[in-house]
Amino acid sequence: MGDGPKKKFWNYLSILPYFCPMTKTDIRKYGLQDLTAYFEGIGEARFRAAQVYDWLWKKGVSTFEEMTNLSQPLREKLKTHFDLLTIREDMVQHSNDGTIKIRYVLHDGHKIEAVLIPVAEEDRYTVCVSCQVGCSLTCKFCATGRMKRVRNLDAAEIVDQVMLVNRLCERIYGRKLTNIVYMGMGEPLLAYANVMESIAHITGEHCLAMSPKRITVSTAGVSKMIKKLADDDVKFNLALSLHAADDAKRNEIMPINEQNDLKSLMEAIEYFYKKTKNRVSYEYIALRGFNDSDEDAKKLIKLCRRFPVKVNIIEYNPIEDSEFDKSEEDRINTFARIVRDAGIMITVRRSRGRDIDAACGQLANK
Ligand code: SF4
Repeated sequence: MGDGPKKKFWNYLSILPYFCPMTKTDIRKYGLQDLTAYFEGIGEARFRAAQVYDWLWKKGVSTFEEMTNLSQPLREKLKTHFDLLTIREDMVQHSNDGTIKIRYVLHDGHKIEAVLIPVAEEDRYTVCVSCQVGCSLTCKFCATGRMKRVRNLDAAEIVDQVMLVNRLCERIYGRKLTNIVYMGMGEPLLAYANVMESIAHITGEHCLAMSPKRITVSTAGVSKMIKKLADDDVKFNLALSLHAADDAKRNEIMPINEQNDLKSLMEAIEYFYKKTKNRVSYEYIALRGFNDSDEDAKKLIKLCRRFPVKVNIIEYNPIEDSEFDKSEEDRINTFARIVRDAGIMITVRRSRGRDIDAACGQLANK
């Protein structure tokens, strides 16, 4: 056996387990190198790998049939050796304010939601994506927190949401997505590897080539993983769902605070800021009579003094049987003014998509 065939034989052997018909795997779990080895292994030209990769990540096809520059027998071979487990649109709801909520079915029948938030005046078209089926963190104000965590989404399932909503955005608003926020169902830092892999695709030239500056990952606050983000030198934005500026109140609404108190979170965020020079946003849902007093504003100011941050006040969207209510508009404005007067960068975000349960904290596959 000469060198060429020997090499091919070993390539073939190295990927053999990947395409055993008994344990077929989603083809998108494999990188370009693996696919190149695969095609060499089955005696096909190496460039086939790049063609298939392009269909998978740039064109975002959902079947092998759509790969029209491959011969029919080759498409059949791919079907025999791999799965292609894309997500499927299940239901679309349109809000009066232009927000669109899309429910998707995953290959195993579980359902997740993504939301398209268009702000035409600012030419901003944002998709809010989910990263887990359900969530384990049981935040009191959040509908997803009432669902059990079932599993993490694969990187490809997260990318699918972005690709599909991008197409929808182009179709309905004639514009591509400008921003992506990981603020849908689930805690991104507890699906760390898959979230990071999805962002590598979304920002990669082989896929959407989006700038990481257009991506925000939002966490309920996992100190250890925030430090890991800094060590991994990420270029995207980080948001912390703060929602209360003292431990007693935060424990009450976000049980994760019991293991990740404000002291440890502030340390982690300071570490993140020093390493990445990227200003973190604090998300703060205004809950009537709970966290919206002048006193709460002063506590928040104290937390914002240590290193530069931005604050986003978010209008609450009451969920069924919620013990919380939304703050009055005047109260929110006064709260924001106190914080702004202290020299802190702060914006108030009005709720979007409330009529279709698409607003912050409302995603629950109803
Ligand atoms: S707010 Fe986020 S982290 Fe908290 S329960 Fe809801 S989805 Fe989970």
